[in-house]
Amino acid sequence: MFIVWGKKLVHRKLGHVADFCPICRKPRAFVLRRVGSAGHLYYVTVSQGELVGYERTCVQCGTAFNAEPTHYATVAPKLLPLPELARQTFPDLEQAWKDRLDLERQLRSDPHALHADDRKALIRSPFLLLSPKVEKRFASTHFDKEVGIAALAALGLMIAGPATVRAVAPDAADLAVLVCMALGVLLVIVQIALAGGRFMRREVLPVLAKCLRPLQPTRGELEAVMAELKTLRHQMATKLKLPELVAQIAGQGDGR
Ligand SMILES: [Zn+2]
Repeated sequence: MFIVWGKKLVHRKLGHVADFCPICRKPRAFVLRRVGSAGHLYYVTVSQGELVGYERTCVQCGTAFNAEPTHYATVAPKLLPLPELARQTFPDLEQAWKDRLDLERQLRSDPHALHADDRKALIRSPFLLLSPKVEKRFASTHFDKEVGIAALAALGLMIAGPATVRAVAPDAADLAVLVCMALGVLLVIVQIALAGGRFMRREVLPVLAKCLRPLQPTRGELEAVMAELKTLRHQMATKLKLPELVAQIAGQGDGR
């Protein structure tokens, strides 16, 4: 018998906190989670695992960041309106993030008046913050709903195809089984290959474009960051299509 076992990450929700989101560029509400590494048998874990760290996920943009729970006065069990959540969990948020909030105010008034170093850092930052999400996605094969639909269609084809051929031309029935099977497998493989692009367009591009839009980055500035990501071997450098990003920042194709 084949036994599947090993370690997997276990995320346990601790509650809600207020903090600054560098992707939304604003104070936001976050879900705080404990991340543990636990032994699993057939992907079933019974413990919360050894502590790996903590993670805070922005309720608005869905981006996860490393967190340090001791930064918060308390953790709210329920999601509260932001001012109330901040008052309870991070009362000195404005003071703690003062420099960054000042920079964001400056950015909103004139993105081209920023110091060159600040501007470069602000353009680079969302790429690096979203990169772990991309790395995680491409570390293993993922199935989205299109792959599921393709698998169902392939199954239908493998059942209905040979049955139809058998009724019309019984001599070709064996061949029909092979052809339908090959087509079905091909259909699923093509959809798995396309799933990565769909993930980038749905989960990464809109968030990245929204974050970069206030900066009005030039194509050259974006190319410089992409070149750096390529040197550092981030998957994002190959998975992200620059023309699509440029179009999204300009507001085209931003369908949601
Ligand atoms: Zn956010």
